[in-house]
Amino acid sequence: MPGFSDRDRGRDRGYGGAPRFGGGGGGSRGGPPQGKFGNPGERLRKKHWNMDELPKFEKNFYQEHPDVTRRPPQEVENYLRSKEVTVKGRDCPKPMMKFHEANFPNYVMDVIAKQGWAEPTPIQAQGWPLALSGKDMVGIAQTGSGKTLAYLLPAIVHIQHQPFLEHGDGPICLVLAPTRELAQQVQQVAAEYGRASRLKSVCVYGGAPKGPQIRDLERGVEICIATPGRLIDFLEAGKTNLRRCTYLVLDEADRMLDMGFEPQIRKIVDQIRPDRQTLMWSATWPKEVRQLAEDFLKQYVQINVGALQLSANHNILQIVDVCNDGEKDDKLLRLLEEIMSEKENKTIIFTETKRRCDELTRRMRRDGWPAMGIHGDKSQQERDWVLNEFKYGKAPILIATDVASRGLDVEDVKFVINYDYPNSSEDYIHRIGRTARSQKTGTAYTFFTPNNMKQASDLIAVLREANQAINPKLLQMAEARGGNSYGGETGTRLWLHLQT
Ligand code: AMP
Repeated sequence: MPGFSDRDRGRDRGYGGAPRFGGGGGGSRGGPPQGKFGNPGERLRKKHWNMDELPKFEKNFYQEHPDVTRRPPQEVENYLRSKEVTVKGRDCPKPMMKFHEANFPNYVMDVIAKQGWAEPTPIQAQGWPLALSGKDMVGIAQTGSGKTLAYLLPAIVHIQHQPFLEHGDGPICLVLAPTRELAQQVQQVAAEYGRASRLKSVCVYGGAPKGPQIRDLERGVEICIATPGRLIDFLEAGKTNLRRCTYLVLDEADRMLDMGFEPQIRKIVDQIRPDRQTLMWSATWPKEVRQLAEDFLKQYVQINVGALQLSANHNILQIVDVCNDGEKDDKLLRLLEEIMSEKENKTIIFTETKRRCDELTRRMRRDGWPAMGIHGDKSQQERDWVLNEFKYGKAPILIATDVASRGLDVEDVKFVINYDYPNSSEDYIHRIGRTARSQKTGTAYTFFTPNNMKQASDLIAVLREANQAINPKLLQMAEARGGNSYGGETGTRLWLHLQT
C-alpha cells in the first residue's frame, strides 16, 4: 500500500475548535428555560419595529478610489464581459479590479497581501463596492468564487463604523449558512481577518455541545456565523439577540431552502431591524430563492458571475463510465489502484445513501484503503475529525453523501468519483466542483448505470458545455430514451458560477 504522509498545508486552519478570543467577562443573560417542544422558534415573536425609536446607524462607507474613477468605461466593460459578470439593478458602483482600490483598512490589506493573490475575483471586484455602499445585494456565485471575502471584508468595515458592543448586545454581523462545515469554514476566514482588527466571531451550529458556543456568545461577538436551527434555540433561550444586527448575510440560500430551513430563516430575519443591510448568496436562482430575495431585500442589485446556464468548472476532466450496478465495485478498485499510485491522490467518492457510504467505507477499510466516511448521521465530533484527517492527507479517500458536496473547500482534491450518480445535474456539478479549486485541475469519474438513464441528456449538456469527450454509450442511452442527445432540458434555468 502506498504511504500516506502528512502534508504541510502551510497554514493552520484550526479545524475542530472555534478559536478563542480574549475579552471581558460578561455574565449569563438569563432568559426563558430552553425547551424543544413544538415548532422551532415557536416562542419567538415577530417584532414590530418603530423606526423612529431605533438608534440610527450608518451603512454607506464607499468612497470610489481615484483609479476606479479614472478608468475608461470601455475598460470596465471589457473587464465585466471577459469575467462574465452581469449586473441587474440600479446604481451599481463600478468594479474594483485591484485590491488597493477597495480602501480596506491596513490590517485587512496585510492579511490579503500574505495570500499572494493577483487580484480580486470577479465576485469580489463587483461585490465589494456594492456591499461597502450599504446596498442590499444578491450574488449568484458558488463556493470557490471568493464569495466569503466578498461579504466578510465589507462586514469588517461595517462593524468598525458601529458603536462598540455593550454588555448584553448580540452580534452586529450575522451570517446564516446551511451546514456546519460551511459555517466553520466561514468562521475560519472571519477569525483570520478579524484577529487583526480585534473583532470576535463565533460559530453556532447544531450537533455540538451548546456550552462553549453560549459562552462565546455571552462574551460578546461582533460576527456570528450560524446554522438556522441552533441559532433559533439560542434566540428562544435568550442566550443572544439580534437587536444590534445591521449586516445580515444569507449564504448558500438555495441550499438552505433545499434543506427545509425556510421557516427558521423567516423567524430569524423577523428578529432583525428592517433597515439592516442584507446580502444574499446563492449558486442558483430558482423561484423560491427569488421569493426570499423579494421578501428580505430592498431595491437590491444582483450580480451574476458566469455563463447563464448550468455549467461545470472547465478545469475538470470529466469521464463517464457507463456500466451496470454490479460492475461498480470492480471498477472502483481498479480506479483507486491507479489513483493511489499518483503523487497527488486526494479523492472524494460520492454515494447516494448513508448506508451505502457506511458499507463502502467498511469494506474499503477492511481491505486496507486509507478511507473514511462522512454523512449527515455522524456526530459533529466525528465529522470534524474525518474532515481533518482528509484535509491534512492522513486519510486521502473520503467517502461521502451529498452533505459534503457543497461548501466543502479542501484545496487539493484531485479526484471525485461518483460511485452513484446524483439526483440532478446540478448536484453533479457541485460534487465535481470539489476538485480543481482555485485554478487547479482535477478529474471526475462517474459511474452511470441504466437506472440513471433519465438523466443522460442533462449530463450530456453539461459535458458538451465543458468541451468534454462524450462516451458513445451515454449518447445511445439518451437517444434510446427518445430524448434529444443535445440535452439541456434542465427545467429551471440555472445560473452557476463558471470557474475558468
Ligand atoms: P470561497 O468562494 O469564499 O469559498 O473561496 C474559495 C477559495 O478562493 C478560498 O480558498 C480562498 O482562499 C480563495 N480566494 C479568495 N479570494 C481570492 C482571490 N482574490 N484570489 C485567489 N484566490 C482567492
